[in-house]
Amino acid sequence: MTGTDSRLRADRLQAFRAAIAGIACSDDPALLEAKSRDYAWYSPVLQVLLDGKRGELVVRPTTEEEVIRVAAACARQRLPLTVRGGGTGNYGQCVPLEGGVILDITGLDRVLEVQPGSVLCEAGILILELERAVHAHPAVPGGQELLMYPSTRDIATIGGFIAGGYGGTGTVRNGILKDPGNVSLIRVVTLEEEPRVIELHGADIQKVHHAFGTNGIITRLRLALKPAVDWVHHIALYPSYAGALRFGCQATEAIGTTLDAFLITAVDRRFAPYYESEFGHRFPPDGDAVFAMVNPACLGRWRELMRQHGGRETMALTEPELKAQGLSPAFECAWNHTTLMALRQDKSWTNLQTVYPWVPGQGIDIDLVQRQMDRYGDEVVMHHEFGRNADGCVSFGLPLVSYFGKERLYEIIREHEADGCLVFDNHVYTIEDGGMKTIDTAQIDFKKVADPHGLMNPGKTRGWLPAYARP
Ligand SMILES: Cc1cc2nc3c(=O)[nH]c(=O)nc-3n(C[C@H](O)[C@H](O)[C@H](O)COP(=O)(O)OP(=O)(O)OC[C@H]3O[C@@H](n4cnc5c(N)ncnc54)[C@H](O)[C@@H]3O)c2cc1C
Repeated sequence: MTGTDSRLRADRLQAFRAAIAGIACSDDPALLEAKSRDYAWYSPVLQVLLDGKRGELVVRPTTEEEVIRVAAACARQRLPLTVRGGGTGNYGQCVPLEGGVILDITGLDRVLEVQPGSVLCEAGILILELERAVHAHPAVPGGQELLMYPSTRDIATIGGFIAGGYGGTGTVRNGILKDPGNVSLIRVVTLEEEPRVIELHGADIQKVHHAFGTNGIITRLRLALKPAVDWVHHIALYPSYAGALRFGCQATEAIGTTLDAFLITAVDRRFAPYYESEFGHRFPPDGDAVFAMVNPACLGRWRELMRQHGGRETMALTEPELKAQGLSPAFECAWNHTTLMALRQDKSWTNLQTVYPWVPGQGIDIDLVQRQMDRYGDEVVMHHEFGRNADGCVSFGLPLVSYFGKERLYEIIREHEADGCLVFDNHVYTIEDGGMKTIDTAQIDFKKVADPHGLMNPGKTRGWLPAYARP
């Protein structure tokens, strides 16, 4: 920024602060540093690209009316705005590339209505608190539960999950966030001089889902619920990783008919040292593990299938039982938490996000996984998640990869693509270069409506061109 530009920016920030008087606001450097980061440090590539990027003010509204005042003030002063929930995104989604205002949404944390089958809530509520509220609510005897949550359930917000997430724990039973009916209402505040409140229903929800907060500030959501199940957190060990995968494929195909589970995760035995201090004999390095959350009503059939594949059970506990023993829930051994387990002890790892083709009735090509294991040796350590989406069953690879530089990382990515795996590149920060692959024109058209000046999380979508911005 030139001297003139920075004086102009300082004037704008001052005018912004005056316009939002009464709403919590801070320029404390330590807070700005903390609120400008997420979990992009998983990727050494992103670490370099995002180094030094920082917001200039943090605001924390507590009502939708206050969000509207912040949005209006940002639009009038043409200040960039980045919405932040729990800050657990892996791709720098809430790292402000062009400074400006960070809107901490966690003050909007109310549950507004619980009915049999659905909940209406504010976007900044922690998913853990939302889950507790729907479980305790008397709308359904025995309580209800969310259809899915990220493995960061305890520290992520529901709005951040919808704006930045994909699926996770629960996906093997209920599909991904995008599937019809899982989210039935999203309410957004637009970033205009006179902000509007827009409610999106049905397929229109996709205009905002996974848009990284680039096209409207989500204030409320309605989500589907199901009757609560007291899931059994389960670990079984298999004689080979291929055996663990075979079990996973067969169990996943049986979900909804003979089996019921909320999580199925296969973890290569080479992860065991990273689990040792917590899980000890439950995951020693002489077996490949399947972490699962199993409906107690079908535990007998689960164990039968496990034994058919040569598995042996090392843990079967409910969440309160785990807590009493100081153990983490199975979902914190899954999804991106598996990589976190390794990174806590060894920062030389990074990971990949891949999808393996699924043949109905058979599952993924386990020989292909074996060939990949032979090809990479200890450079790549395997981890597969099992899930489903509107099209059927699916398996996501989340392997650990030793980081030997960007060139080698992309060589491994290209080899996975040549193997027929789809790679959701987690070493980039734009929506399109990651999972989306193409520009979602419906999201960009909605951005023209909800963020006509192009101020929201600038730089995160390649589909937005400066020429689109209203002066
Ligand atoms: C250990 C670990 C495990 C994870 N497991 C999973 C997983 O299982 N499944 C999965 O999908 N993801 C997973 N993630 C990624 C991430 O945790 C999820 O996407 C999470 O739900 C993000 O929520 P958050 O509140 O932290 O959002 P943030 O990181 O704060 O925000 C994410 C994005 O959403 C935008 N945003 C946030 N709130 C709003 C709002 N109210 N309105 C508009 N935009 C908004 C932000 O600007 C940002 O672009 C994991 C990450 C880690 C580090």
